[in-house]
Amino acid sequence: MLRTPASLIVESHAIFSNTIFFGLTLILFLAAVTSAFIGFRRLKIADIWSKNLLHNGRPVNEILHAVGQMMFPIKATIGGIFVVFIYAGTLLERSLLSVIVNTAALCSALILFSLLNREQKLVQQLRTIDPKQAKAGYTSFRMFAGHMLGALLGMVAALVLESLRTAYLPIPFLDGSLTKLLEFCFYVVGIQLFIAPVMLRMMLPSHKPASTEEKQTETVIHEAFNKLGLRQPQVRILALNKLKTYNALIAGLNFAPFPFRQIVMISQDPDLDLSADETRAIIHHELAHGVLWHIPIRVIASIAIWLVGLFALFTVDLMFFRAEHGPLFIAVAAPIYFILFHPRLLGLLVREQEIQADEFAVHRLGSKAEDLIAALTKLTLASGGLIDRRPAGTWLNANAAHPTVIEREAHLQQLSGTGALSRKPDLRRRRAVTTLLKTQSVRTTAALGLALALYSAYSLSTPTPERLPASTLGVSIEKRLDQLAHVDWSFPKKKGFVLRTLEDDPF
Ligand SMILES: [Zn+2]
Repeated sequence: MLRTPASLIVESHAIFSNTIFFGLTLILFLAAVTSAFIGFRRLKIADIWSKNLLHNGRPVNEILHAVGQMMFPIKATIGGIFVVFIYAGTLLERSLLSVIVNTAALCSALILFSLLNREQKLVQQLRTIDPKQAKAGYTSFRMFAGHMLGALLGMVAALVLESLRTAYLPIPFLDGSLTKLLEFCFYVVGIQLFIAPVMLRMMLPSHKPASTEEKQTETVIHEAFNKLGLRQPQVRILALNKLKTYNALIAGLNFAPFPFRQIVMISQDPDLDLSADETRAIIHHELAHGVLWHIPIRVIASIAIWLVGLFALFTVDLMFFRAEHGPLFIAVAAPIYFILFHPRLLGLLVREQEIQADEFAVHRLGSKAEDLIAALTKLTLASGGLIDRRPAGTWLNANAAHPTVIEREAHLQQLSGTGALSRKPDLRRRRAVTTLLKTQSVRTTAALGLALALYSAYSLSTPTPERLPASTLGVSIEKRLDQLAHVDWSFPKKKGFVLRTLEDDPF
């Protein structure tokens, strides 16, 4: 008589042996230290040659661009190593190894921070920004604190909704996974949409229009909103002049009540030398974002791209790794997708929206293309940028995926031109999305996501018969169901799985 044990530990495999894991940690940490060493040396050299170049009459912004290009690979390497350590830390249970990995993560973060600090000093020196006046550290801290608060609020909101859901709609399958999704959605939607005006006021130093010029700008904003029959937004003057950072932005929803009411933030500085028409053109561009629902569309697209990626990753994990050997796969694939692909895909949408907002400002709101381009040029150059190139690494941030001023000018010229290139402006709200769906990379991603979804639905609805003894088959099916019930959308913390078998089964 053959008996299977009542409980069977199927696997308790480690992804790597501790020695290999420790070795890899050490190698990566040494790579971070070496990169930092190279980075500091580069900054020292840049300090010398930038002075020479300035002396020989080269434009500061060109030099700043070169410094950025030179430092980006170094910062990306150390940042990447930091991310790997953080993910590796989530895979480990409490052990000496996890202490080592987390310490390595902390040390890499400190190394990166000191390198950024040193680079910032050089940049401020080149741009003749007085660091005591600028308080760059204080501004960064405000931004960081704002994001943390947003994340916290998202988490609390998700927890409240999730508790309500479990109380009134108890479906075990949704436990855990839904909380994670909700947290993310609340964070994104909350930060970028509903509470954005409050968050931005907390994060960016600004003040109410006070001087005559500032009041004039406010009047221009009021007139532009009136013309379209919209409710008046909150108007704030960005106070980043001492950092020589100039910008204009719109956030929030037009119908929301105060303090969540739509907000327009704009820089005002005599040094910018913007004419009244140029200021109006910038305001028209921002207003276009609001009218065309660009931010809500961006938020929804961001969540959709995020969900497709998440779903695809877990389906691949279930298909090829049976959610057992998957931690390593998830640890490698998830950061690659969310750090590299997500901003790239979303960046395509942002680019299209920027171009459309320019077209709307010119063809619907009556600004002159020359004024808009002149204003964009002045803002970009005064902020230390170039009009024909983007700073290094902007593709990591979808919101910074604006086309260059030169590209925007070319688009506007295409519209006004009479040549073969001329076309009519498409000012429909759905334009950015439809254009995006015509893009090959987006189509491929969507098709792949759909194929994976269909495959997983098929394979989950029909458990594959495996050529195993009856008792083991029982284990296998139960195992599969167990996995389904416990799909944890956070990263697996366990190194192995302990599985229950069916009751003793005498043959
Ligand atoms: Zn814009």
